Amino acid sequence: MSTSVLVINCGSSSIKYALVSEHRKDRIFGLAENLGSADARIKGITTGGAELELSIPHADHEKALETILERLAHHNPQAIGHRVVHGGTLTKAELLTPEIIERIRTATPLAPLHNPAHLVGIEATMRLFPHLPQVAVFDTAFHQTMPSHAYRYALPKFLYTEHNVRRYGFHGTSHAYVSERGSELAGSFKKGGWLTAHLGNGSSTCAIWNGQSVDTSMGLTPLEGVVMGTRSGDVDPSIHSFLASNLGWDIYKIDKMLNSQSGLLGLSDLSNDMRTLIEASEQGNEDAALAIEVFCYRLAKSLAGLSCGLPRIDGLFFTGGIGENSAYIREKTVAYLPHFGFNLSQEQNNSLKRGTEGRIDAGTGPQIWVVPTDEEGRIAKETEHVVLEQVNTSAKKSDIETVMA
Ligand code: ADP
Repeated sequence: MSTSVLVINCGSSSIKYALVSEHRKDRIFGLAENLGSADARIKGITTGGAELELSIPHADHEKALETILERLAHHNPQAIGHRVVHGGTLTKAELLTPEIIERIRTATPLAPLHNPAHLVGIEATMRLFPHLPQVAVFDTAFHQTMPSHAYRYALPKFLYTEHNVRRYGFHGTSHAYVSERGSELAGSFKKGGWLTAHLGNGSSTCAIWNGQSVDTSMGLTPLEGVVMGTRSGDVDPSIHSFLASNLGWDIYKIDKMLNSQSGLLGLSDLSNDMRTLIEASEQGNEDAALAIEVFCYRLAKSLAGLSCGLPRIDGLFFTGGIGENSAYIREKTVAYLPHFGFNLSQEQNNSLKRGTEGRIDAGTGPQIWVVPTDEEGRIAKETEHVVLEQVNTSAKKSDIETVMA
């Protein structure tokens, strides 16, 4: 590897990392998990595809990052790109400065589970690598092109003007990458109207017109929208007062239920994992079958709703663990959208090899593609871009200073 970007995604007890080479060809990647516990470890793939498993008992984020960075130092990373879920009012990737870190902190009430963990990672890498340029890439930034009629809630105006209560949208790096790559595969790079379905443990949909997000399913927080692994997606907001009045639940209990005990897990009373549910449903488990049906129906309904943001629909892209790997879920979802003219080729859908790109429609109606997401690659690209911009601005500044001197 010559020049490379280290991409870091810090969760509350885990750190995903990837060293992405120039032109994003080679990858070294891994996951530090169970941080803070006796069972803390790093699992990953090193140079040449060799597997790595390293026990780091009781390591915290900083210790884990130190270990990861020690192992990667000889690859000489040129910059670090941090995934940050909520950028608040920040509209694009930013070089990390004390001011930007403060703005990420200010956005914490909007992503209380994610932003504090990102800040721990950012502060640790700033201490460990004070001389490397570091960039924050926000999940929310891609959706900043949404028009106000898509991002405003029908709530009192002051909640927006004084408290930033609005729809932000998430999974932006994935929707951006997949729509760009997909439209390129379709021969109309960043042109036309596309729908994306990012289906993983967290799931969201997006409508993209000429390369820009015009609407998306997630809102103020990543709870709004389609059914997810453990998140409910859309429910009647009066559920809060109903549960408080009738069951005496407080706001924390309701929030936990909606975020961690609902979705596929809540519906099936079995698992949040789609593979487990498909297997159980094949063996006759009716709750698992219903969870899958609700998932696909709500997903189709979300895509149909988002289509209002597009002057025309050129096609649909599936991505994420479920979208990339499950022909069954893709088929069931498209079956709910016949009135848009979507026409899935069962043969192409079933024969697409796991984790590969491919077109799966029958050649009539809007196109349907599977496009494996590459959030790390996209974060590395945006990081490079910000660093280069910075270098150019500094170069111009020193030119001006020389002329002025
Ligand atoms: P995350 O959002 O945590 O990154 P992923 O994108 O890896 O998650 O997606 C995880 C989901 O993908 C799980 O529900 C898992 O069951 C599902 N999945 C992975 N492979 C398959 C498959 N072959 N069929 C159905 N679902 C799958």
